Parts: sequence; structure tokens; C-alpha cells
Amino acid sequence: MGSQTSLSFCTLFLPVAAATTYFRLLISFLSISLPLSSSMLPFQTMHEAELALGRTLTFAERLWFRYSAQMPDFLLYSHNTFFLFLFFSLVPLPLTLMEHINSKPLQKYKLQPKVHLSPQTFFKCYKDVIKVFILAVGPLQLFSYPAIKWIGIRTGLPLPSGWEVLLQLVVYVLVEDYGHYWIHRLLHCRWGYEKIHRVHHEFTAPIGFAAPYAHWAEVLILGLPSFVGPVLVPGHMITFWLWMVLRQMEAIETHSGYDFPHSPTKYIPFYGGAEYHDYHHYVGGQSQSNFASVFTYCDYIYGTDKGFRYQKQHLKKLREQWRRGEENREKYHSSGEDQKIK
Ligand SMILES: [Zn+2]
Ligand SMILES: [Zn+2]
Repeated sequence: MGSQTSLSFCTLFLPVAAATTYFRLLISFLSISLPLSSSMLPFQTMHEAELALGRTLTFAERLWFRYSAQMPDFLLYSHNTFFLFLFFSLVPLPLTLMEHINSKPLQKYKLQPKVHLSPQTFFKCYKDVIKVFILAVGPLQLFSYPAIKWIGIRTGLPLPSGWEVLLQLVVYVLVEDYGHYWIHRLLHCRWGYEKIHRVHHEFTAPIGFAAPYAHWAEVLILGLPSFVGPVLVPGHMITFWLWMVLRQMEAIETHSGYDFPHSPTKYIPFYGGAEYHDYHHYVGGQSQSNFASVFTYCDYIYGTDKGFRYQKQHLKKLREQWRRGEENREKYHSSGEDQKIK
């Protein structure tokens, strides 16, 4: 009963909190216009900063001051687009090479080993994503700057401590995962799927480059939960960059098409990973399973991981039967050899 009450509380409270923050964002878009050239750094020199902070600056803070003191905040915020472009272009490259080298030791980690995509398909996917980057992500960057100022993402000194960054990132990832779950689930209704989400599901066997491969509207809609965490717990611009890059790298990993047994993400509790999201693409438009972006618990709580769990158990049984068959075959052959020797 207690768990039911807390569950319904969470079910009700979190969407309300998300709606409130969306509303705040919307107001900021409509009513706030800040000069693009302003800078949040209140200090003219490092000495001034040290006097204000009452201590000497750390090495990282000195570097940050030298880099950002004369730079307008809008330009600092725009680094985000550059990082997204850079990481999206570089991180999936080793996966692309692995697909084309097609070596046997790596093949056993491939989630859908029978599917092989041509280099042209990879290139077309990359080209289409870059188009969406230019047409949707770029303008979003421009128009979301007033919101970033309004929510209080700071660019000045002192820099946040490691713990502050870590705790904020934990909040961001939990909030994003929850928001993504519901929006993604909504996109699987008939209208949402046919008009928008179908594009992302063109890859039934996903690849790293296909992580942001989607209709422009989906890029914007599913991008919103990434901003809700920073709205609730605003941090430093560096934390914001780190969050955006980590979120993108996580999406690339879950779309990689490979499930490596010693991936560091395997040690994160409730982490879904490549196998989890690959199943969602494998099933396609009919999929009512595995909607969450990062963790598995939302799908577990709302009962949308049953198909995946059934398939996992079924495959485990098949593998077990196959292993027993192999063992029996070996026994049969070795007893035949024994009889020949006698
Ligand atoms: Zn989907
Ligand atoms: Zn996907």
C-alpha cells in the first residue's frame, strides 16, 4: 500500500514538475531578451577574482579565466553546438570501422550479426543528421540562449567542485530519463509514430551515427527533457557542456549495435545499454517495450519491459538447449572414437 502511494505520488508529481519547468522555459522564450554580448564574469583581472574569493585560484580556474574572461556568454554557450557536432562525428567512427572490417572476434559482440549495412548507408545517415543539426539544433541553440541566462547557468568563478558537478549530473540524467520515457512512449501512439517517430525507427538494427537520426520535430521534442534538469538545478556552463556531451555519448553507445561485456556502463545500476535499446529498434513501430533512454526502472515500474524480458529468457533457454545439444554431440563422437579404438 505504502509503495503504491509513493508510486502514484511519483507518477503525479514528476510530470507536474516537468510541466512547470516547461512553462517557465516557454515564458523565458516569450518575454526575456538579454544582450548577446554580456558576460557573467564579474572580475576584470585574476587578482580581483582572488580578492573576491579570498583564496588563490586553482590551475583550472586560471585556465578558465584566461579562456572565458573576454568571451561573450553567448559564444561560450555556442560551444555546446560545436561539442555536439564534434563528438557526434568522432565517437561513432570506431564503430563504423568495426562494422566494415567485420572481424570474427568482434562479430560475437554484434547484437544483430546478420545485418550488415553498406558504407553508403552510414554516410547517408551522417549527412541526414547533419542536415537536422543545421536546420533544428542550430536555431534551437540561438533561441534557447535567453532561457539559459534566465535559468541561471553561470559562466564565472569559482568553478564548481567535482562533487557539485557529479550530483548535478545525477539529477540531470534522472530527470531526462523520466521525461524521455513518457515523450518517447507518447511518440509510439499511431499519429506520433507515423508523423514523427517512424524516421528514427528506419534503422531496425541501429548504428552509432543513427542515435540522433530522427525527424526534426523529434530532435526538438525529445531534446527538451535534457534542459529540465539544468532548469531545476542550474549549474556552471562547464557542467552544462559536460551533460550535453555525456548524454550524446550515452545515446551513441545505446545505438552502437554492439554489446561489449566489459563496457564501464555495465557497472552502473539499472543501466539499459545497447542490448536494451537495440530490442526497441528490432521490434520497430509495434514496440511497446523499452522506452527509457538510460535506465531500466521506468519500463519496469510501468510494465513496458515485458516483451524484452520474455525475449531474453527465451534466448537464454535456446542457448542452454544448444549448449546441451553440443555437449551430447561431443559425448556421442568421443564414445564412437572409443569404440573404434577398442
Ligand atoms: Zn521508439
Ligand atoms: Zn533509438
